[in-house]
Amino acid sequence: MGVDAPRPRLRAGVHYPRSTGEFQSWFATDADCLDYLDWLRWPRGFVCPECGHAGGWAVADGRYKCAACGKRTPVTAGTLFDRRRTPLTVWFTACWMFATAKDGISALSLQRALEIGSYPTAWAMLHRLRSVLVRPGRDRLAGTVEVDETYLGGEEPGLRGGRARGKKVLTGIAVEVTEPKGIGRCRMALLADGSSASLHPFVTGHVEPGATVITDAWMGYHGLAGLGYLHRRRSQRAARARGGDPGELLPAVHRVASLAKRWLLGTHQGSVDETHLQSYLDEFVFRFNRRRSHSRGLVFYRVLELAAGHEPVRYRDLAADPKPKAKPPAPPGQRGHPPSIERPRAARPWRTADLG
Ligand SMILES: [Zn+2]
Repeated sequence: MGVDAPRPRLRAGVHYPRSTGEFQSWFATDADCLDYLDWLRWPRGFVCPECGHAGGWAVADGRYKCAACGKRTPVTAGTLFDRRRTPLTVWFTACWMFATAKDGISALSLQRALEIGSYPTAWAMLHRLRSVLVRPGRDRLAGTVEVDETYLGGEEPGLRGGRARGKKVLTGIAVEVTEPKGIGRCRMALLADGSSASLHPFVTGHVEPGATVITDAWMGYHGLAGLGYLHRRRSQRAARARGGDPGELLPAVHRVASLAKRWLLGTHQGSVDETHLQSYLDEFVFRFNRRRSHSRGLVFYRVLELAAGHEPVRYRDLAADPKPKAKPPAPPGQRGHPPSIERPRAARPWRTADLG
């Protein structure tokens, strides 16, 4: 709804902060953050979600009262921040770190940086942010696209790629390639197996028909031509015959897969289980596809915009396993809610310091 409507041109320093300094001065209080969400949601003024009437009054506690039906609506209602007890200053700072850190942030680092009382709270905040990153109806990849599958996640080091079974999870990777060696956008999704019943939906779900799809000679990719793609197959045997490196058959996919592996091992120390691997991959893809964005502040704006437009995410949905196990993989410990990190205007301690 309205997502694809042309947006007014965003200006740095007006619509989104240019720097950490600007971020801090804009969002000093929870009320500042609430006002920004208000503006993101209703840039032309309050529209009642209950009756659709445009117009109402701001009342206490960050709510609007509809001028027509009288219903009161919190600014955060129906967004990712709905009924969250974590103060908005903490949320915004987490969004800023999430969006601006080159490699993202782990739950442990977030917990320490914001002095969040419990690990599960920090963990759930990051997972809630990850859950908004895939916009329904986003564009599929186009042009020339390499597609392959590889094993990611898990904690077993040194497991060979390919189609062998292991603790890692088979993941489909699609990467746009541009001549001669450029890499465009990518997509990643977990696969049940390497059969055409899994690979064909991966391709049709992530690549625009009419695109040129390059794969290896694996039989799971047979039939792509019948699905509207120009299918080019590269065989390892042919690469060897040419004296090439068969491991470099699909160099763009290879490059993206190794970056994703390094990121999982680096930022998250490899401690990503199968249940949550897809959401980590969503984060990787989101950041990878914005790697050339000249403004980190704009990426922050996009995360908040997605969060404001996303329905609330329940904790049990984050912790739940799509394939239930005897023991749910929820993080250990008690949940706790951090205090606001409102920053009162500095008292200029240097003015009162004794120069002695
Ligand atoms: Zn109304």
